Amino acid sequence: MLFDSHAHLDDSRFDRDRDAVIRAAKESGLQYILNAGASLTTSVKAVNLSEKYEMIYAAVGVHPHDVKDMDEDTIEVLKSLTNKKKVVAVGEIGLDYYYNHSPKEEQRKWFKRQIELAKEVNLPIIIHDRDANQETFDILKQHQVGDIGCVMHCYSGSVELAKEYIKRGIYISIAGPLTFNNAKKVQQVAREIPLEWLLVETDCPYLTPVPYRGKRNESAYVRYVAEAIAEIKGISFEEVAETTTKNAKKLFRIE
Ligand SMILES: [Zn+2]
Ligand SMILES: [Zn+2]
Repeated sequence: MLFDSHAHLDDSRFDRDRDAVIRAAKESGLQYILNAGASLTTSVKAVNLSEKYEMIYAAVGVHPHDVKDMDEDTIEVLKSLTNKKKVVAVGEIGLDYYYNHSPKEEQRKWFKRQIELAKEVNLPIIIHDRDANQETFDILKQHQVGDIGCVMHCYSGSVELAKEYIKRGIYISIAGPLTFNNAKKVQQVAREIPLEWLLVETDCPYLTPVPYRGKRNESAYVRYVAEAIAEIKGISFEEVAETTTKNAKKLFRIE
């Protein structure tokens, strides 16, 4: 069993063969996939995928890239989407100071507003943080998000910060870059953070792990992330697969 805790199977790069990709994921041993929203449009697509495929669950939210177009009406639509049975989280939300596609001020405002939404509807949150480690941490700490549940998706920060997160009940999700030779920082995170606090993800179609690096990523490849964690920790692949699946089910409250 495996749980790809973060995928974008709604992406147009899957338009030609989405059914086959999802079938391949199932055949390779995946039990669940969480499809994250990144805008209103992709949040609706995530919900539609969750209604079509048994193994897919959805998260709804607006990515920091796109918050510049948000208003309170967007929040209302997101809120109504959270009523759908297989919507199990709000996300991905957060801060991205690498691209700054939206002004920082807007990013902070709508990040906080979407955390409040998650609290209103009592759902966990999925966090995107790029080049905004300290501010993201401060906002999450201030909002005590451990109460609703939270995961740092595609974690790329330091091991020290990761320890601060898990202390507060926040999960760390590891993606494909763990398999890259130069990924010393995330390898240290995989080594030192207890398995009980780790999730695995693909973030497909992005961040393709070795041995498929350079090609389109897909959910079936989450096994390479789990294998890398097993090797780094010196434990079996089965233990990593089983525990990370259990962690994700607990976070997203899937029975
Ligand atoms: Zn992201
Ligand atoms: Zn993503």
